[in-house]
Amino acid sequence: MFRKAIWEQMNESLQTLKEEHRFRQCTAYTPIDSTHVELNGRKYLMMASNNYLGFTHNSDVIAGAQKAIETYGTGSGGARLTSGTNPLITELEEDLAFFKGTTKALVFNTGYMANVGTISGLMGPGDHILSDELNHASIIDGCRLSGADVHVYRHSDMKHLDELLADLPATGKRLIVTDGVFSMDGDICHLPAIVNLAKEHGALVMVDDAHATGVIGEGKGTAHHYGLSDDVDIQLGTLSKALGSEGGYVCANEVIINTLINHSRSFIFSTALVPAAVGAAKVALQLLEKEPYHIAQLRANVHDMSKDLERHNIPVAHNAIPIFPIIVGSDEKALEVSEKLFEKGIILTAIRPPTVAQGQSRLRLTVTADHTKEDLWYVADTLAEALKD
Ligand SMILES: *Cc1c(COP(=O)(O)O)cnc(C)c1O
Repeated sequence: MFRKAIWEQMNESLQTLKEEHRFRQCTAYTPIDSTHVELNGRKYLMMASNNYLGFTHNSDVIAGAQKAIETYGTGSGGARLTSGTNPLITELEEDLAFFKGTTKALVFNTGYMANVGTISGLMGPGDHILSDELNHASIIDGCRLSGADVHVYRHSDMKHLDELLADLPATGKRLIVTDGVFSMDGDICHLPAIVNLAKEHGALVMVDDAHATGVIGEGKGTAHHYGLSDDVDIQLGTLSKALGSEGGYVCANEVIINTLINHSRSFIFSTALVPAAVGAAKVALQLLEKEPYHIAQLRANVHDMSKDLERHNIPVAHNAIPIFPIIVGSDEKALEVSEKLFEKGIILTAIRPPTVAQGQSRLRLTVTADHTKEDLWYVADTLAEALKD
């Protein structure tokens, strides 16, 4: 292929995306506070972030990041196995393990890297991974990278999971992996059934708490929500959503953590998390325990948002999760509604394939502790209006 043909092929593929209403672009919003951004001199209400507790702009969390920079500098200078672990990371890992009720924890640079590195670090060719069809892309990528046999079960279909497990050959390790709170639908996985099946069929259980930490189980996530923290082998999550920072983590026993330190390539070959992110996350984690009113406020807002949406006959799940999937079907319609809301000063991004299945395009409305009652009321009214035609 000539260079000219390479460019032609890439341009054609981008053109196709545009025609299919699937072309994606980054928009340069300027953050103002935890619930507002600015664009071209206009202020917008943010209804599409995962900043569930508003911790990105919490003064204590900011101070934690500042102190970490002043004490340890802006960068960490190298991978942990090369240039060492800064004491702040050790403290954060001890805090995370204590918080989740495990013996050990390991932080990664993002939740994405935690999933990719954990699944591929623990599982390999000849092993078997059972994965929910709606699991996050980083879980899917971790499964692919591992080289293990991947068995996808229908979303939260425990009968299907049971059948797949029953059909597995006797050899190879087994891992059941699931989102705790599903990122695009906001439903909670059926953990008690998953744990039972894992015991029956000899499998490890891994739960991704990206949208559960700081949200359910007193902020401790899905395993705590169900009282099953002793039965989940791997509680993984991100520092970048409710905790308002950046980074991923894995809480597990010493065997699993040591396996990851030795086999997880996204851990081994990447420079350690920057001190600012660690300092911020450490304080955010303390706030979850010290100031439970943040989580209480989030729950109150989720309740209010549910009421406001129901006032307009928009169906809601009532599961106390701050994710409201407003499914409209076509990509075009999702974009159209999103644009109408934008004109009214609300950012509510259209979610299209491949993030969700074909015909399931939606607006993914998220509520945070920092939204006001007036914000929620206004969003429900404006959304109902935009959905009308
Ligand atoms: C956001 C998300 C991740 C990735 O975390 P990052 O820290 O943003 O890389 C992983 N899993 C799920 C379920 C997520 O929603």
